[in-house]
Amino acid sequence: MAREPTQQLTRWLNELARITDEPGKLTRTFLSPAMRRANARVGEWMRAAGLAVREDSVGNLIGRLEGSRPGAKTLLLGSHLDTVRDAGRFDGALGVLLPLVALDMLRQQGRILPYAVEVLGFSEEEGVRFSSAYLGSKGFTGTLRAADLKLRDADGIQVRDTLETLNGETFTLPRAAHRRSDLLGYLEVHIEQGPVLEAQDLAVSVVSAIAGQSRGRLTFYGQAGHAGTTPMGLRRDALAGAAAFISTVEGIARTRPPLVATVGTLAVSPGAPNVIPGEVTLSLDVRHPRDRARRAALSRMLGLAEWIARRRGLRCTWELTQDGNAVACDPKLTRVLAETVRKLQGRCPALVSGAGHDAVVMSALTPVAMLFVRCRAGRSHHPDEYAAPEDLRVALRATLTFLERFAG
Ligand SMILES: [Zn+2]
Repeated sequence: MAREPTQQLTRWLNELARITDEPGKLTRTFLSPAMRRANARVGEWMRAAGLAVREDSVGNLIGRLEGSRPGAKTLLLGSHLDTVRDAGRFDGALGVLLPLVALDMLRQQGRILPYAVEVLGFSEEEGVRFSSAYLGSKGFTGTLRAADLKLRDADGIQVRDTLETLNGETFTLPRAAHRRSDLLGYLEVHIEQGPVLEAQDLAVSVVSAIAGQSRGRLTFYGQAGHAGTTPMGLRRDALAGAAAFISTVEGIARTRPPLVATVGTLAVSPGAPNVIPGEVTLSLDVRHPRDRARRAALSRMLGLAEWIARRRGLRCTWELTQDGNAVACDPKLTRVLAETVRKLQGRCPALVSGAGHDAVVMSALTPVAMLFVRCRAGRSHHPDEYAAPEDLRVALRATLTFLERFAG
């Protein structure tokens, strides 16, 4: 591996992007054939970089490098190797391959860190196959639950079945891979997946917190009727109520940054051009780095949904499907990382991650820090996802310095 490190990283990212379940696009889902091939290939690169490689019982790929000091603690670095459907090359993969290039550079320089390092390639983060995210990091942190094993994919196969096939024996819920006291922390390098770094003309920055998320389904019930014969004053139009609600949600979120709120799906019933909508179900997703602000915004939105429904002779119900609190990145780790970044590019504004990451789950086990890398046009979860080699070079230098700072 004598190539220039950023070229090496780009070559690995490109090769990994060709390992897919769907020809012509990049798709790798939990324990799929492509995921098995991806683990095998990244495992080879890990071995070449001098790491000892194993796979745990949920399919996470783990490469370990011992430190020079016996009994020293372990620093974890990683991200996920699964993808969304028709994904980009950087989401997840970058956080696994960049640390690997950094460790390989140290090896080539004959440098041995005093502490141990593990590079983690999580088997599942995106929630594509089983509609539930973080199966990999939950397995690693010992927070996988019996309910997770009962989830089914589109073919009716349960998580438990896939894990028993993988392990060739009855699956038992794993315990945490490490004791908290044996760990130094977890660093995740990730593409920003948003437009902030590009707007600020910065290659990288640190994350201060990962926003909490509340998600659910809101249904408006009205009265279906003939679109030609029912006068406007006598209608109970569920979709008109939902439309008023959607505008209200946007209005609330616009006036309370960094709150973000999204209605992403709308199911209209009966759903015909000549019938007044009698029932509408919409999804609502609300995120904020402060839990109290998120809950307050959600409750205001739901209060206004009731008010809109009442005024229009509708009824509405709310079902909360996901509620995760915000995760603060560790101030100490983040400070070290931010000092490093400031030396490289002058500024290092702390960003809030609006997207969830493996770091959310890892924070249950150890302090976490995240480094975001600029993403062209903020585009992610899309084949056009792109991070420039110059930015990757800055991220690589920041990671290397971070590793060295720990040694000191
Ligand atoms: Zn990701």
